[in-house]
This record gives sequence, structure tokens and C-alpha cells, in this order.
Amino acid sequence: TKVLLTGGSGFIATHILRALLEAGHSVVTTVRSNDKAENIRKAYPNLGADRLDFAIVSDVARLDAFDDAVVSNPPFEAVIHTASPFHFNVTDIKKDLLDPAINGTTGILYAIKRNAPSVKRVVITSSFGSMMNVSQGLWPGHTYSEADWNPVTPEQALENPGFGYSASKTFAERAAWDFIENEAPEFTLSTILPPLVFGPAVQSLKSLNDLNTSNQFILSFTAGAAKDAIPPTKNPIFVDVRDVAFAHVAAMEKQEAGNKRFFVTAGHCSNRQIIDTIRKNFTEYHDMLPSESLEGGELPEAVYQIDNSRSIDILGVKYATLEKCIVDTVQSFKSVAQ
Ligand code: NDP
Repeated sequence: TKVLLTGGSGFIATHILRALLEAGHSVVTTVRSNDKAENIRKAYPNLGADRLDFAIVSDVARLDAFDDAVVSNPPFEAVIHTASPFHFNVTDIKKDLLDPAINGTTGILYAIKRNAPSVKRVVITSSFGSMMNVSQGLWPGHTYSEADWNPVTPEQALENPGFGYSASKTFAERAAWDFIENEAPEFTLSTILPPLVFGPAVQSLKSLNDLNTSNQFILSFTAGAAKDAIPPTKNPIFVDVRDVAFAHVAAMEKQEAGNKRFFVTAGHCSNRQIIDTIRKNFTEYHDMLPSESLEGGELPEAVYQIDNSRSIDILGVKYATLEKCIVDTVQSFKSVAQ
């Protein structure tokens, strides 16, 4: 299949790109600059331009950003849209988070409808943030599934960058489903909804200072963030990036994945389990970790449950364990220049 993958320089997209190429697909991926294209090209020295090529899209917040990138010869059959800001280092929530997420999503859908009628399936990276009801906290007794939508309002979105980010994902995904309903395009849509994603950071990084937001959580433990006190577990579920990548590719390939959301999570995890895993596998970080006897960071007893059965039944995801995920994440930090 000929695929357009947006945001090819990102943490998750790097794994999607690898999975697509390994499955034999041809990919054009969008990046913001030629430098970023070169860095990706270097990872695949033996692939010709027919299997891996690039398009420059410098800012997805522009509504016409994808008008040219969706046009290709031979034409695209599928689009995977991952490019969206995920960081909390923002000065203007609307401009830095909401606009690129929402305009990027509606912009690419209109561009496909107008300029790429050959596209049959669009897969969008949404987020658990689009499902989560923050006001319910750990919501004991609730089971999260694809039926859940974050009730965040446009006013709340502007309150702080955390709300801003989850609202950016919620409004973008809503806009995508509204587009399907109102515009009745030729293609079908699937959305992928992961919680905090950990796993090997194999994207091109100048230094660990540029590490993607979710892996910074693991990096912080190796840098001593829990040495004196283990923070309470506020994000009690996780998923491995390789499973997230697999889910995107399966959602693109499988007919029955059309017009569905997919909650992709391996299950519960606690800060304590993450720290214990690092301690068990990496003696070199022992000085940065709390002693085994320090209490705290456990999985709260009263916590929401998860229903990930659709991702298993339809996409065939086989979830990696927390141990494998954390070991491979920490191992990957060692390959990045300090
Ligand atoms: P990264 O920060 O590594 O990737 C984000 C990608 O989006 C990068 O390629 C980035 O380009 C691109 N991008 C951001 N803003 C713009 C813009 N204005 N114009 C053009 N490109 C832009 O993060 P992840 O890989 O983690 O995130 C990928 C997707 O997954 C996002 O949609 C995110 O919301 C979603 N997600 C991530 C989760 C996680 O825990 N990691 C959890 C749930 C969802 P550049 O590198 O050039 O800045």
C-alpha cells in the first residue's frame, strides 16, 4: 500500500514508519525540514525513493498545509496522521496546542477529500486524553472504553497546558468524526487512543534534552526524581510504543477497523513498579533510585479499569509487559548522546 505518514520525525511515528516499511508498504512521510528528512533517510540506506520518500510540511496549523503533500504518483491509498504537538512548554495554548491539533486534522481530511480521492483509509493518532474525564480522578468503579469522551470545554482548555493538550486531542478527534458525518468522504476513519506511551526512543535526537514528553517520565526516574520520595501514581496505565505502531498499521490494513476508535493500553502500572523494574535491571542507576524499603508510588486500590478488548479482537495487538517496555526504554537512552 502507498501510505502518507505525517510527523515522521516523532517518537511514535518513527516506530510506525519502521513497521510500515517492514510490512512492505511504500511510504511518504512529512517532516518540517530537509535536515529531518536526511536523518530519517540515513536509517534506511538501502531503500529507494519508491519505498521511502519525504514531503516538507513545516506547520500543520495552516489549513492548507497538506494540500500538496497528499498528492502523489502513484496515488496514496492510506494516510496515517500523527503530527500534533505533545509538550507542555507553551506560552499560548490556542496557538501552540489547539490550532496545530485541530487545523492539522481537519486540514488533512479536507486535502484528502479534494486532492486524493484514491485514499481508502485514514488513521489518526488520538489519545486517552480524548476519553478521560479528569474531574473523576481515578474513577473507582468505572471501566474506560471507546465509549468514553473527555467532556472538556473550550473554556477549560485554556486554563493550563495539561488541559490544553488533552483538549487539543479531544477537539481534533471530534472534528475528524464530524468530518466523516458531514462530508461523507470516500475513505473510512480509524482513531488510535493510547495512554502515556513508553518504549525505545529511536527517533533522531541531538541529546536527551530533546526526548519526547512521555519518555521524559521514565528518564526523570533515572535522573533521581524519586530518590527521596516516590511520587503518587497519577497515570495508572501504559502502553509500549511498538504496540501503538502495530495498532496503527493494523488499523490501516484491516477492513473491519474502519469507522472505529481503538483504545490501546497494555493495562495498569505504578510508579513503584517502574522504579523497581529499573532497579532490578540497571545497577548503574541505583544511586539515582530510592531504597527498596522506601514506601509510596503503589497502584491505588480504587482505580478505574480498562477494556482494551477491541484492540485485541480486531487489530490483533499482543501487548508487551511493563518490564520489557521499561527495560527497552531505559536501554535506548544509553544510545543517545548526553
Ligand atoms: P513527538 O513530540 O515525538 O512527535 C510529535 C510530532 O508532531 C513530531 O514529528 C513533530 O515534529 C510534529 N509536530 C508537532 N507540531 C507540529 C506542527 N505545528 N507542524 C508540523 N509538525 C508538528 O511525540 P509523540 O510521538 O509522542 O506524539 C505523536 C502523536 O501521538 C501525537 O499526535 C500525540 O498527541 C499522540 N500521543 C502520544 C502519546 C504519548 O504518550 N507519547 C499518548 C497519546 C497520544 P517536530 O519533531 O519537527 O517537532
